[in-house]
Amino acid sequence: MATQTKEAPVRKEGMYEVVMKQFTHAADIMKLEPGVRKILSKTNTEIEVNFPVRLDNGQIEVFTGYRVQHNNALGPYKGGLRYHDTVDLDAARALAIWMTWKTALAGLPFGGAKGGIHINPKNYSKSELERITRRFTYALGDNIGPDLDIPAPDVNTNAQIMAWIADTFSSTKSPSTRFANLHVVTGKPVGAGGLAGRDRATGFGVVANIKNWAKLKNVDLKGKRFIVQGFGNVGYWTAHFLLKEGCILVAVQDVSASFRNDKGIDPEAMLEFSMANGRSLKGFTGAEEIDPGKFWGVPCDICVPAALGNQITAANADQITAKLLAEGANGPTDIEGEAILKKKGVDIIPDILCNSGGVIGSYYEWLQNKRAEIWKIEEVLEMIHDKIDTSFGKVAEAAEKYKVDWRMGAYIVALQRLEDTYMDRGIFP
Ligand code: NAD
Repeated sequence: MATQTKEAPVRKEGMYEVVMKQFTHAADIMKLEPGVRKILSKTNTEIEVNFPVRLDNGQIEVFTGYRVQHNNALGPYKGGLRYHDTVDLDAARALAIWMTWKTALAGLPFGGAKGGIHINPKNYSKSELERITRRFTYALGDNIGPDLDIPAPDVNTNAQIMAWIADTFSSTKSPSTRFANLHVVTGKPVGAGGLAGRDRATGFGVVANIKNWAKLKNVDLKGKRFIVQGFGNVGYWTAHFLLKEGCILVAVQDVSASFRNDKGIDPEAMLEFSMANGRSLKGFTGAEEIDPGKFWGVPCDICVPAALGNQITAANADQITAKLLAEGANGPTDIEGEAILKKKGVDIIPDILCNSGGVIGSYYEWLQNKRAEIWKIEEVLEMIHDKIDTSFGKVAEAAEKYKVDWRMGAYIVALQRLEDTYMDRGIFP
């Protein structure tokens, strides 16, 4: 099913380099067993598919999609699908590796994968996106499956896209197994087998982590000012739940524009505007539009990057005034950016812990489908909070024990679980 493309990736974000540096550092500190280190240094499978789709104007276009499966020692591969023009093998590889650490840290029975299509979805109509999604699913074929590899939403993909994938995958199987395949993806709409609360799970988890930080550091969240980069699923829900803690949203940046309002931005009004404006904030009037270069320097207590990777770098880290960086996005801080923040004494809740509410929610959706059960949103959010509290505690404990920061603490917890599994089980044959 997998084919090779001759086209070179258009743009690399360099995230692979970042994730491998982080891995090497953590493996050195915890003295990871050399054989396990070799296994985890490589991805298990890298799939690249080229597939044709007829556009609304009758022309045929060929798209390139990817799925990288890093490791499945703990369970089926798990990770999002991204529709973006930065999607290439390098990016999918880095994001797949982060997923392995994230699922291991969260104590889930999953491995790590990531993928997507190299595309700017804004250039296509809804019916074109449906055909692109369905044909991509068909091209992936049995390389995904409910007990093999389970995709989920990520940048520019959503519940609707997951529903098309589930329907296409199930429709290519015998009708008698249709409902046995419902959990081939998570993040589906509730009416199509989705989990109540999965939509808000990642932002809810970001805030659960921030609450744990506040408790540990004896900080009262009431009145604390925060800024958010990215106002999609993660950015909006994080803002929504932080407001419930009494925090004040003072700046937001999306791909189209940046905004500041020291009196507070209303995330609900901003969401309403964005939905009516093709998911773009350009033209929002509830705050002053500022130069994008000034966004990171807006005075705040908490900074939440919730857009793409490698956004906080040597070029802007110095401007950040927050005491806490809560990484809603995957890989938002590069190595130089992190070094600057650490020198300034900024606490960092690392991505694999901070945004793990999403994959924890996905786990419960998968389990709900597997057991043919339906859970209430309150139960789901409580279970997510509980798992985040456990992970946060383990990370803080490992950081204390090894005298490292929370990112390294999180890696050590994850790598320890993977090492234990390999040591207990051995390697076939
Ligand atoms: P989304 O597509 O819903 O939203 C992305 C947001 O980022 C949009 O507001 C977009 O305008 C903004 N953005 C894109 N490029 C930008 C740029 N150059 N500068 C400023 N803003 C920019 O995506 P999402 O699902 O919210 O994911 C955001 C991040 O969170 C990604 O790194 C993703 O991997 C990570 N994440 C998502 C989930 C999830 O459940 N959706 C779970 C874990 C991690």
